[in-house]
Formats: sequence, C-alpha cells, structure tokens
Amino acid sequence: MAFKNIVDLHTHTDNSFDGNHSTMYLCETAYMKGIRAIAFTDHLEMDAFYRDNFNRTAIQSFFEVAKARSAFSGKLLVCVGAELGQAVYDKEISEKLLNTMKYDFVIGSIHNLPNIQDFYYMDFSNESIDYMDLLSQYFDWELKLAQWDKFDTLAHLTYPLRYIVGKYGKNVDMAKFGEIIDEILLTLIKNKKSLELNTAGLRQPIGITSPDESILKRYKELGGKLLTIGSDAHYAEHLGAGIEQGYELALKCGFDKIALYQDRTPTLIPIE
Ligand SMILES: [Zn+2]
Ligand SMILES: [Zn+2]
Repeated sequence: MAFKNIVDLHTHTDNSFDGNHSTMYLCETAYMKGIRAIAFTDHLEMDAFYRDNFNRTAIQSFFEVAKARSAFSGKLLVCVGAELGQAVYDKEISEKLLNTMKYDFVIGSIHNLPNIQDFYYMDFSNESIDYMDLLSQYFDWELKLAQWDKFDTLAHLTYPLRYIVGKYGKNVDMAKFGEIIDEILLTLIKNKKSLELNTAGLRQPIGITSPDESILKRYKELGGKLLTIGSDAHYAEHLGAGIEQGYELALKCGFDKIALYQDRTPTLIPIE
C-alpha cells in the first residue's frame, strides 16, 4: 500500500551526539523522498544537561531547525522538536528549558536508569545482570515520566527490549509488566498525550516496532487516540524508514489517524 501523508516525527541531526547529517541536508533528503512533514528531535539528556553541554546543543539545534523551517516553507513542513531524555530525573532544569524554548514538539524518553549507563551500552550477556529487575525499574520511571506530563509523545516505550531481546536474545515475559503498561497508557490517555510508534526496531535485530502490536492494540482498547510515528533516524538514508509499515500496523490496530504537532498542539491527519 502506498501512503500519501508520510510524516516522520522522530529524527536526529548532527546536533545530536550520535547524529550524522546537517539539518539542511536532512531536509533536502526528506523532500526528495516525498516526506510531507518532519520533526527534528535532537537529544537533550536532562540528567547530564550541563555536564555534557546539552545547554549549548539545545540552542544550536533549535536555531538550525527554525532556519530550515522557513527555508523549506511550502515544500516540507519542518517541526522544531527535542527528545528529552530522563526529564523526570531533573524536573527543574527540564521545566526551565521548556519554558524558554518555543518547541513545536517534545518527545519524552528514558534511555538509562538513574546513574547507570544507557541500555544501549549494557552487556546483557553478563549473567549477573538481572534484566527483569532493570526492566521493572525502567517501567516505573516510564510511569513517572507519563505522570510528569510536560512532553507531547512518549517515545519507544519498550526501548530496553531493543538490546535485551534484540541484541542479546534474552527471553522477556512481558505479561509481568502488563499492569504497569496499562497504567502508563491510561495516564497518557487521561493527560491527552500521544504514544509514539517508533519504527527503528524494524531495521534492527529485534525486527519489530516499539511498542509492538500487542501494546498498540491495548492502547486502542483503553481509549487511546493520539499516536505519533517516527523512524528515529540518525542518518539521512533512514528518514521515513518503516513509516509505511508502521502505518499498516497502526491501521491494523484500529488507528486511522496520526498526530502531527505544531506549537505543541496536535493535529490529526488521516493515514490513508
Ligand atoms: Zn530515544
Ligand atoms: Zn531518538
């Protein structure tokens, strides 16, 4: 199936420490690929905001994306965004940032537990790591993040599975987290926030989206309406990657619209 309204609301420029291409080059690529709208959401890891100079990259990223937004006006809708990692570990700095920067769109994520490295760097082949316990702490923080409520979409809800299951092939019984995941989803619904359908996993060893079909169906069942979609591209070639597959999955789970954000306000656009 070919979709007309391809939007990608989770991408990284070289203003992210793990990004690779300039904002302008990414816009040109997105336009060439026929993408209608894109949000640049460079990393701001709020638990290391000043230590790792995110205060500087935040400003750099904001102005480069704002410049691209006017340069591509009429060709590509560019949204100025940010991916706030671990915002709930330092709410004060996070709220100050959000009061200062007039973003279109803010993603809330958790990449690491307090004072521990990103799940990306952890070696789960080490048998002494109790990954079920880490996951349980992770979902507790995801709930706290959902309750904090100062973002627009909750990103890659099952992020650690990319590594625990995808990279290290561990067996995770997700039924153990059913209750807390319900609570997270219900909090998003109550607060009128979006859940993100992150398609990065489709091009990674795990081979599925985050969250996957079962959680998307549950979100719909509980009354979820707001869904954003993003490739989590860190390279120009990944812009829009998996969005069509994501749309098919969203339709299958009962969502016929996808949310787009400008000025922190969602607009629902039809998937088909
Ligand atoms: Zn992320
Ligand atoms: Zn990201």
